[in-house]
Amino acid sequence: MKARLALLLGLVWCLSTGAAAPVRMTPVKIAENVYLLQHSQGSGNSTVVFTDDGVLVFDFHIDNADQTLAFIRKQTDKKVKYLISSHSAGDHASGAWHFREDKPVYIATKNQIHDLRMQELQEFNERKNSNDPRNAGYKGKELIPPDIGFDGTMTLYFGGLTFQITAEGRGHSTGDLTVYIPQKRVYLMGDLLDTEIHPGQGESAGVFYSNVKGWVQILDNIMARNLAVETYVPGHGPAHLGRGMKDLEEQKRYFVVMRDEVAKMIAAGKNLEQIEKEFKIPQEFAHYTRPERLKSFYKLFYNQLMETGY
Ligand SMILES: [Zn+2]
Repeated sequence: MKARLALLLGLVWCLSTGAAAPVRMTPVKIAENVYLLQHSQGSGNSTVVFTDDGVLVFDFHIDNADQTLAFIRKQTDKKVKYLISSHSAGDHASGAWHFREDKPVYIATKNQIHDLRMQELQEFNERKNSNDPRNAGYKGKELIPPDIGFDGTMTLYFGGLTFQITAEGRGHSTGDLTVYIPQKRVYLMGDLLDTEIHPGQGESAGVFYSNVKGWVQILDNIMARNLAVETYVPGHGPAHLGRGMKDLEEQKRYFVVMRDEVAKMIAAGKNLEQIEKEFKIPQEFAHYTRPERLKSFYKLFYNQLMETGY
């Protein structure tokens, strides 16, 4: 009886404080010495690459990058030498602080650095100073900015591996970068690829900026490279080992099909409000989680169709 009461009180506490179940970052082996730390609630993933010369980490949230670091410390006594973030959103670029002891070099696109300074920094500090228990992970921490900013492409040779880093342009965010590691047949997509989950609107400190045309174009660009890739690693959702380009095809089809559904409703005379209310998710995407993320996409599909037709 006591246990049940405690459970009930716990539930009431969770509901009243808005506290969610603790996040777990579960390590999943992608290739030899490459691990995805998959977020248990579908938020941003993190990827770790171990080499003889040290460790590279791709994407890190201030809330859970301590788990990424703990995983690294369990595997090796080598230091974290490089950090790369896919884009400026908090769930990918806010957690460099956790690795500060190792003094890694942090690489990002120039536009990402702009967004981190102009938007994310303010949100980070607001959260840090807030008393909301959901922001407890920010207390006493700093938003550490990148050390190197680039445009176009950059190649990092580290630990016997080639990291081909590409600024893919505007798609999910104002600028998403990807990392291709040919020796591992792995391609880190950031939020340009989400699996089994409705994609989120690119967001940084409450500013939304996804562009459907750009997103589809980027997926086309990456597919057109016909790279020797076994696994494209998603920013959200589970990695599909060995599924290769099929994941990119599915992500592209998602946008094309969903946009087409919105266009059909526009052709039938529906306004945005009616579309938001009456939209039926096509069968092939019905199993995707987090349907609440669609809300902002109806607006996006609708406005971008009305504005330019894309
Ligand atoms: Zn994300």
